[in-house]
Amino acid sequence: MLRKGHQFKVKSKVIPHKSLEECVLCHRVLEMPKSVDVSERLYYVEGAGQLCRECYMELYGCNVVISE
Ligand SMILES: [Zn+2]
Repeated sequence: MLRKGHQFKVKSKVIPHKSLEECVLCHRVLEMPKSVDVSERLYYVEGAGQLCRECYMELYGCNVVISE
């Protein structure tokens, strides 16, 4: 039996760039709204900030397994 309303659905709406995070190293705008809690984020480094995937991999290497 399927439980309706349990799954979180992401609304596909355009998010203004000013409300999106950017990478602290290369300043690329990321598809990560600033409203997302840091504990929910990928590639967020405490004390440093939000990184993009490329910068994160460069810093921490490819031995970090993150399921996408
Ligand atoms: Zn970057």
